[in-house]
Amino acid sequence: MDKEFNSEEVIREFEALTKDAKRIHIETLKQILKENCEAEYLKNLNVDATTDLETYISRVPLVTHKDLEPYIQQIADGAPYPVLTGKPITNFSLSSGTAQGKRKFVPYNEKVTEFTMQVLQTSFAFRNRVFSIEKKGKALNFLYSSKQFTTKGGLIVATASTNVCRSPEFKKTMEALQTPSCSPDEVVFGPDYHQSLYCHLLCGLIFHDEIQVISSSFAHSIVHSFRTFEQIWEELCNDLRIGVLSPRITVPSIRTAMAKILKPNPELAEKIHKKCSALIDWHGLIPEIFPNTKYIHGIMTGSMEPYLVKLRHYAREVPLQSGDYGSSEGWIGVNVSPLSPPETTSFAILPNVGYYEFIPVSKIIDPDSDIDSAQNEPKTVGLNDVKIGEEYEVVITNYAGFYRYRLGDLLRITGFYNSTPMFKFICRKNLMPTINIDKNTEKDLQLSVETATKLLTNEKLELIDFTSHIDLVSEPGHYVIFWEVSGEPSDELLKECCNCLDTSFIDAGYVTSRKCCAIGPLELRVLSRGTFQKMLDHSVQQGSVLNQYKTPRCVGAANQSVFQILCNNVVKSYLSTAYG
Ligand code: AMP
Repeated sequence: MDKEFNSEEVIREFEALTKDAKRIHIETLKQILKENCEAEYLKNLNVDATTDLETYISRVPLVTHKDLEPYIQQIADGAPYPVLTGKPITNFSLSSGTAQGKRKFVPYNEKVTEFTMQVLQTSFAFRNRVFSIEKKGKALNFLYSSKQFTTKGGLIVATASTNVCRSPEFKKTMEALQTPSCSPDEVVFGPDYHQSLYCHLLCGLIFHDEIQVISSSFAHSIVHSFRTFEQIWEELCNDLRIGVLSPRITVPSIRTAMAKILKPNPELAEKIHKKCSALIDWHGLIPEIFPNTKYIHGIMTGSMEPYLVKLRHYAREVPLQSGDYGSSEGWIGVNVSPLSPPETTSFAILPNVGYYEFIPVSKIIDPDSDIDSAQNEPKTVGLNDVKIGEEYEVVITNYAGFYRYRLGDLLRITGFYNSTPMFKFICRKNLMPTINIDKNTEKDLQLSVETATKLLTNEKLELIDFTSHIDLVSEPGHYVIFWEVSGEPSDELLKECCNCLDTSFIDAGYVTSRKCCAIGPLELRVLSRGTFQKMLDHSVQQGSVLNQYKTPRCVGAANQSVFQILCNNVVKSYLSTAYG
């Protein structure tokens, strides 16, 4: 992307793609099959470049990651023949595997980089119509690189965001979009995220009046960054005053890179110090310290929604722009409605990025259930047959070697942009196991926590983060909600919160089961301060990266290490008395 970025041109291309979505979508499938017809996976299914849509659907089964693991293992071990894709895979992305606590290896190739740039440019073009970025702007982008390692066959493994930000196209694109990161590469690629975060914040202060965008992949990391700022702002001001980096930064390459931009600036240090001291409870921190911020950008939908209250507290009047929708497996939708608040953000499907099918929620059969999946395979509907208001599980076929792959996310169709569907992200499927006849989702959990949190907020207390566990061992099984709270809530208040959590699960199956004691009283376990930080540290140690981190909203006992962190840090627990 060497020529100057032209928003209107990008929007014109998007208009053309979406007006002709049906044809382009089918063409995309043909192209995917043409490029990958040599892959063993497709050959075994008797699929080649000439296979038409109907035959493709009849021959290729719906799969989950578990089904692909043997193939992925062959690639990781260095199979000398095409396994899932025509061209050899050289890199893997490590997905968060939030639901099962098991990280997934996902093939990554240059097509993923190409489409990431398309997605970044398209949503930026729409945002830029409303919140125009001035030339020579900078972004305070909380971006990190995960640890890299190689498989037995020599393939490089890193998180998807690391793979993207290591590509030369990424840097070029961000520069063309006038939002290059204010931090040097050494900070982004540093080996210790605590040190990188410190330096991101310091760079943000040095360039505070040039910052036009504050961003990260997910809202969690933006909130986490400013929570950290609350703790370390005086140290940052001190570095600015004397022009010397704190001794807590020990990585030589970071120290060298920072030395080039950190000069003694007592006036700036004094200005920032004054502004921070004048803030009440850090309300409006972002516009006060970074006065030219046009918007804050990152994924704010789905499991990120609970961070919006805190983000708005820091942002005050600065608009929040929710990021696009995709996964390590590939991109799906782009946010082209910059005026929608995150709670109502819908995404438009990009018909040239992959071939998408949709399983109506009523037809979903758990692929991991014991029912013979070949016989009970649910019917999918195509891009143009989805109905507004209906919910679906999305199925993807793309250039990275996924053929009719169930991503495990539920989406609701909200309308059409030209002829491509627009959808809202609802939640991950099957996150909360069933005890009896209850059917609660991640979204139900979020709503219940949201309701109970109001009781905390009334007392000026704050919920730092939450997760849950479905206890199937005790008899009867029951829901366990883990909370980390700021301040010292009274026992009375926490008992009230516990009852409120229990009664806020309004799913008929849950209520009935609670009433007849088929599900036991909900348990609220309060965690010591810093427990969610320990979970984050653990995840990063396992190869995750701060900007891609999602707090798991339901932790199963099989996810032993995380479950242990939670159990070891419980300071109080309460049992609901809501159902007598
Ligand atoms: P990962 O596998 O770590 O790449 O995470 C991908 C998952 O993150 C998706 O399957 C979704 O569950 C979630 N996700 C990605 N983008 C969004 C979004 N815009 N809104 C809500 N959830 C998202």
